[in-house]
Amino acid sequence: MTQILCKKLAVFGVGLIGGSFALALKQAGAVGEVVGVGRSQTNLEQALTLGIIDRIAVDVVDAVRDADVVMLAVPVGQMAAIMQLIAPHLAAHTVVTDAGSTKQDVVALMRQYLPNQLAYCVPAHPIAGAELSGATAARAHLYQDKNLILTALSATTDDALQLVRSLWLLCGAKVSTMQAAEHDAIFATVSHLPHLLAYALVDMIVQRDNADVLFNFAASGFRDFTRIAASSPEMWRDIALSNQVALLVELDAYQAKLHELRDALASNDSEALVGIFSRAQAARQAWQARLL
Ligand code: NAD
Repeated sequence: MTQILCKKLAVFGVGLIGGSFALALKQAGAVGEVVGVGRSQTNLEQALTLGIIDRIAVDVVDAVRDADVVMLAVPVGQMAAIMQLIAPHLAAHTVVTDAGSTKQDVVALMRQYLPNQLAYCVPAHPIAGAELSGATAARAHLYQDKNLILTALSATTDDALQLVRSLWLLCGAKVSTMQAAEHDAIFATVSHLPHLLAYALVDMIVQRDNADVLFNFAASGFRDFTRIAASSPEMWRDIALSNQVALLVELDAYQAKLHELRDALASNDSEALVGIFSRAQAARQAWQARLL
């Protein structure tokens, strides 16, 4: 039986990510009470029924009072409002962490709204998820063998960092650390750009007069390319706007690559086409092999 590392965990946003964090820690026997805060009463009641949380907080004060850890697992556009709400009620020792997909903005918001708590602020991002939302999508094993990135502040104490690291290790995650700016540049390329491309392709098709026919004949290639276009629009709006600078760089780079491909096609340059396809095929196969 694991030792209880966190007697009271307050989860703001008991959805796929926050709910899975709570479930994994409960399964590991690492938390005492889990208290949930949310925007949707129905979702919170489902979380209670599913045993993800032990109770629904009466209010913000009730949620954070004596909490050892506050987990912010809401869309990144909601982080500022929640930090402002919790700031006056945090105990000196309460660790504030998050699971947001962008990190420079969360770090800046922590500095702005939680200036007295910075020693206990531990920004984090689990590299696991799905296109599903809400408490019903939460799974105890979601983070098993998945990466988790910590982007600690210079003010973050070792104790706070170690506590959050230990909690994620108990969720089964592989924990690493990096600077927030490096994090945002990496995920602009490998996560945020692909989501924009998937949304763009599906939106292009649905606006065609013959969209029904096109969707009728779309098959597994379309399914694999566009799975993530079923993700939450609110969440992805917030991520895109929060990581705007890095994402614009990636969109420009992708447009340049599309131009290269277009030129090759328009000029019947089969060598150029095979060059692009072969490099991509080899890289994709090698990446897939690393996952096994
Ligand atoms: P989700 O929609 O499943 O859950 C978010 C929950 O937050 C919802 O239950 C919603 O009602 C609640 N919420 C929204 N605004 C709130 C507010 N102001 N106060 C309290 N609750 C509020 O979304 P998710 O997939 O769990 O994403 C949560 C966070 O995790 C986001 O910041 C997202 O960027 C990040 N993230 C998502 C994934 C993924 O693949 N889904 C992966 C890694 C990180």
